[in-house]
Amino acid sequence: MTDTAPSPSVVSDESPSTDVRRIGPAFRTTHPLASGPVVSPQTTVDGFVETFLGELNYGQGTLLSQSTVNDQYLALARTVRRYLMADWLETGARRRQAQQKTIGYLSAEYLLGRQLGNNLLATNLQDIAEDAMRRCGIDIAALRAQEVEPGLGNGGLGRLAACFVDSLATMDVPCIGYGIRYEYGIFRQTFEADRQVELPDSWLSLGNPWEFPHPERQVLVGFGGRTETVTDAAGVERSTWTPDWQVLGMPYHYMVPGFRNGVVNTLRLWSARATQDFDLQIFNSGDYAQAVRAQTFAENISKVLYPEDSTPQGKELRLQQQYFFVACSLHDFIDNTLPADFDLRRLPERIIFQLNDTHPVIAIPELMRILVDRKGFDWDEAWEITQACFAYTCHTLLPEALEVWSVDLLGRLLPRHLEIIYRINEEFLERVREAFPGDEMRARRMSIIAEYPDRAVRMAYLATVAGAKVNGVAELHSQLLRDKVLPDFSQLWPEKFTNVTNGITPRRFVRLANRRLSELVTDTIGDGWVTDLDRLRELEPWADDAAFRAEFRRVKRENKERLVKLLRVRDGLELPTDTMLDVMVKRLHEYKRQTLKLLHIVSLYEGVVSGRVPAEDLTARTFVFGAKAAPGYHMAKEIIFLVNAVSDTVNADPAVAGRLTVAFPANYNVTLAEKLIPAADLSEQISLAGKEASGTGNMKFALNGALTIGTDDGANVEIRRLVGDDNFFLFGMTEPEVERLRPGYSPSSYYEENPRLRATIDLLASGHFTGGDRRAVAPVIDNLLHQDSFMALADFQSYLDAQERVDAAYADEDAWSRSAILNVARSGFFSSDRSMRDYLERIWHA
Ligand SMILES: *Cc1c(COP(=O)(O)O)cnc(C)c1O
Repeated sequence: MTDTAPSPSVVSDESPSTDVRRIGPAFRTTHPLASGPVVSPQTTVDGFVETFLGELNYGQGTLLSQSTVNDQYLALARTVRRYLMADWLETGARRRQAQQKTIGYLSAEYLLGRQLGNNLLATNLQDIAEDAMRRCGIDIAALRAQEVEPGLGNGGLGRLAACFVDSLATMDVPCIGYGIRYEYGIFRQTFEADRQVELPDSWLSLGNPWEFPHPERQVLVGFGGRTETVTDAAGVERSTWTPDWQVLGMPYHYMVPGFRNGVVNTLRLWSARATQDFDLQIFNSGDYAQAVRAQTFAENISKVLYPEDSTPQGKELRLQQQYFFVACSLHDFIDNTLPADFDLRRLPERIIFQLNDTHPVIAIPELMRILVDRKGFDWDEAWEITQACFAYTCHTLLPEALEVWSVDLLGRLLPRHLEIIYRINEEFLERVREAFPGDEMRARRMSIIAEYPDRAVRMAYLATVAGAKVNGVAELHSQLLRDKVLPDFSQLWPEKFTNVTNGITPRRFVRLANRRLSELVTDTIGDGWVTDLDRLRELEPWADDAAFRAEFRRVKRENKERLVKLLRVRDGLELPTDTMLDVMVKRLHEYKRQTLKLLHIVSLYEGVVSGRVPAEDLTARTFVFGAKAAPGYHMAKEIIFLVNAVSDTVNADPAVAGRLTVAFPANYNVTLAEKLIPAADLSEQISLAGKEASGTGNMKFALNGALTIGTDDGANVEIRRLVGDDNFFLFGMTEPEVERLRPGYSPSSYYEENPRLRATIDLLASGHFTGGDRRAVAPVIDNLLHQDSFMALADFQSYLDAQERVDAAYADEDAWSRSAILNVARSGFFSSDRSMRDYLERIWHA
């Protein structure tokens, strides 16, 4: 797929590895057949069957009558791939011709979700494939279920990257998504005795039909070693870096199809390999076992996704991963994508690298190193270019989530990069001192290098100094970013800061996940909404139409029935279909306040068991949780245990049978989200105000016709403004109120003064849900009463009151449906297509 013969690929200054040379230049000939066209299979059931059987016979080497479900799944996937291939090759050729600016999306995570359904949707082959499989005696649903989703991300941040590349393909914007092909993605969660147990996600073990390895585009990446200053032939002083070990990056290409527009962009994920030097060591060392261990060492780099969400651990392997993938990506673009004679002074005309959080920020000194050390630019010119090639998206407000790397570690692993960072910092602090003479405290605060507790590089500061733009991910978040997280920087460069509110792709999260709602919407307003989500506005008048509301309720009910069936088979759960479905699904984090949700459930239950409230007076609700905890996050795991314990007790108690049901299906992931969200009535978005940067789960729910109960936080603020106060259940403190309450906050005073809260906590603390074991609940209870960093107790009463408003609203079926329809009609803004337009206009200028 390359026009240029691949040059030997080196990131370090070392000579190229022979592995790369051995592959040889790309084959080129003037024979007319050599440049295609690639012929797609016929878009008919017959054509599909023929291609499928061909894949089964010649690809899988089996007969239909002998084939396993996995054979059939792989053959089906490869069949769909064939229909995409001509468009992929054509898009690639067109992009190389056009010399347009490309978006290089740099993200350590892509939480893609299953590919088969999405690619059938994009190619409009759903019905043909279903018929074709039926003709072969195969139920396509069983094949869909065979796919293990690529879980190459933790949660919202990785899912956002997946939505963005989907939108860019649908909008025909040139984009290369760069990331890491983890051999093991986010762990598979199971529960044993109500506690989370993590199992490895061996998603590649049955074969991956969606990826294409490209060994001719391998890249060498160096680590460690030392730097020297040498005077070159022209008498100029230059730094050279001699790494002491290297690994190869092997790219795997994934198709990113636009929605039925003939465009297929590329996601390029890097996998680490040992170099041939390692192989030679195996033969030469005599210590075979040691040599093989060295090989494993290299391949460890892309072995596993770190399962921490929002709380990085500062582990050396993680820094290796970060540098590995950005070094591969920069090299890939500069040396293997741009024409060989490209004038790098014009680099910003051809690429903008968007940094998805700080994980890829080491790309900044890497580009400086390429330009200065390898391409002979002088420092100032290189800095000018670099500043125009990067933009930074911040995803957090939590101080503990702001990544820092100890100078020690960084200097050991990437000595030249540390020198470059020091020089960037020196020149930056000079500018600060010019702008604010005499304000030495400010210069210290703003330094990219923190001095305490240990010397460390603040990656967010580096990104802010170097980036052309810095954006937050929702209006409130961007404002807090300017005022609270990076105030000194926003004073120095107010124009650098901007907002782009997150979005989600309506293809996966409405059209694919909620086929019934999609059909109803399309029957009512046509199908243009799938790529122009603002058109959902046209549904507004239908909210007042009784027949439409009835249809809307039928859709919800059928989605619930589908979910109940799934959870019966998947988790052995028995859930009712005719209750309010109240859903809280997201990573387990204290700031998201799953405990507040749990307090609500226990307070309802306590009302019944204490005899205060007749069970019949409760609105029948089914509560669904879904959440993974980072394996080292002890409090989060205690909360998971408690939710499961409450679930066991409540579900088994005849006193609340049919009224309160609590389900916690294990292993929340994109596949489960696609089933849960379309069935939900109520969306729980209850983080402490000022802590959730944006959220995207909140948008998925609103677009699928759930009403939100939520705090004034993240994108909830914008959802509420758009759908209207009457169609949103607001509760809790605002961010300024939180700040005012913070000094001297005493959670126990709420316990003392609120009898309902006290009864709720007492019931939990009594061991009622843990077979009398009070010690098992103590970690969560003690934390709530004595620390409660996220102020669940302060918001408890307000939350309860809001939940009562929910009950009252739900009792009026027509009014509820009306609100739900208005949520759908007014949430078109949250399409990631709109996010991409905002990035293009405010940041990328492409
Ligand atoms: C959307 C999504 C998230 C993000 O959810 P939030 O509620 O915004 O935190 C996390 N995990 C999965 C699987 C998702 O689909």
